[in-house]
Amino acid sequence: MAKVELNKICKSFGKARVVTDVDLSLEKGEFVVFVGPSGCGKSTLLRMIAGLEDITSGKLRIGGEDMTEALPAARGVSMVFQSYALYPHMTVRENMSFGLEQAKLARSEIAARVEDAARMLKIGDLLERKPRALSGGQRQRVAIGRAITRKPRVFLFDEPLSNLDAALRGETRVEIARLHARLAGTTMIYVTHDQVEAMTLADRIVVLNGGHVEQVGTPLDLYERPASRFVAGFIGSPR
Ligand code: ADP
Ligand code: MG
Repeated sequence: MAKVELNKICKSFGKARVVTDVDLSLEKGEFVVFVGPSGCGKSTLLRMIAGLEDITSGKLRIGGEDMTEALPAARGVSMVFQSYALYPHMTVRENMSFGLEQAKLARSEIAARVEDAARMLKIGDLLERKPRALSGGQRQRVAIGRAITRKPRVFLFDEPLSNLDAALRGETRVEIARLHARLAGTTMIYVTHDQVEAMTLADRIVVLNGGHVEQVGTPLDLYERPASRFVAGFIGSPR
């Protein structure tokens, strides 16, 4: 069970409180999109779920297990970043294998997982290249492929498409939707400031504002019944 539960999650950097009392319960296999203005705490929330940032107070559970203080590798979570975060000196295959080697998986298992992920993302012909020989779109597919090889229970995406041009953004968005369908049962949490991405990908949207949750609902809920002027302004139904 990869239900993700956030209970009164807070984050402070020194005296600055940037996330306040976030309560969320995400179902196994759900596609949840976090939206909100720049600086509202979206990345900080993802990083706390991934274990890349300490949780100041509150509780995080994944699959019913307390993960508030667990090491990143123990959480069953993979994150895809806007900047791809590939190792420049490694080939695509090495980039995709590295984490699995660290986790001491058998060679044959690593090779099989890389082949599977490469097929899924259509990057099989790029495996021996270095990242600098790839386009932005290809790099992002490699980053997503690498995340898949870890077989995470929870996938975190932090504005994965915002460095791509409009055509590639559309294409990769469709690819991510397809991926979610194929990896049935994998919970996905996706940060974007793009309305179209939010409305088309999300089972539910979480609207964040100044570090707190402003509203949670299906795209239709938010469109038809925005709880505040702020949400209406973000999701775009005039009222
Ligand atoms: P978003 O992803 O929604 O744009 P972030 O989560 O990156 O927002 O940032 C939320 C707030 O926390 C911002 O005000 C940002 O300046 C602040 N912040 C983020 N990381 C740090 C840090 N390491 N130290 C201090 N302040 C930070
Ligand atoms: Mg961010």
